[in-house]
Amino acid sequence: MTNIFQLSAKTLGQMSLPTFCGRCFWLRVHNPQMPFQVFPSIFSSIDTFSKRVTNLYFERHGRLPNWFKPIGLDAQPLEAPHWSKFNYTDRGTNIKVTGTADEILKLPSRQGALVIVDYKTARHSTRADELAPMYQTQLACYSAIAERIGMGRTKSLWLAYYEPVTDVTADQLADLVDDDSVAMRFAPKLIPVEMNHTTIPKLLKKARKIYDGPMPGRMAGCRDCNLLEDLLRTVRRGQGGLPTTLKGFLASTEQRVAR
Ligand code: SF4
Repeated sequence: MTNIFQLSAKTLGQMSLPTFCGRCFWLRVHNPQMPFQVFPSIFSSIDTFSKRVTNLYFERHGRLPNWFKPIGLDAQPLEAPHWSKFNYTDRGTNIKVTGTADEILKLPSRQGALVIVDYKTARHSTRADELAPMYQTQLACYSAIAERIGMGRTKSLWLAYYEPVTDVTADQLADLVDDDSVAMRFAPKLIPVEMNHTTIPKLLKKARKIYDGPMPGRMAGCRDCNLLEDLLRTVRRGQGGLPTTLKGFLASTEQRVAR
């Protein structure tokens, strides 16, 4: 039996895109702790805020806010389990698929069927449509996990875009600004996501193959690998060696690969 490794629904989603790079994937799965992360945490803070607003509104009014109409205002927010409880291990590949769904709703009018929602703090655009295969896979994974851990079957999947309202007039200032703080409004927009579980087994097989194999070559046309090598060369030249953090990162990669 091959060793077990963990893969997030988000990473599996990224594998669905035409821009997927096996080399990047290989580096990430062999180094869960990268020396730096570029994703700004402000977006996950706003997603947490959006979830909190939905929950507080439901507690106060006994229904969801109006923008949830396409789903059903009677849908009840459930506590989304932590990823350590929200996972399953695929027997065929021995990959543990994990995730943290932003919002899981239960439909009382549909025998408790689930609706899974992912919040996006962004404007819905053509670029967002290009990412559709990634979101389809990511949300399909959440649905598969929910079913396997006994939370129930999923009726539908959605992206909730919270679009920042930046067109502010002087008349609105009093509602948005006081001496100590400034508020920003968001215009929510719900977009349905096609429910399709069929890509998951294929992607898991592909992930296993890349994980078990040697580091793949560079993706044609990607200049970032060259830039990274230039950077490492410059650092070596300037400091008579690599900084400790990068040395540690490279050493741990070599150890993992040698195992
Ligand atoms: S080719 Fe580009 S995408 Fe692939 S590992 Fe290098 S930097 Fe990452």
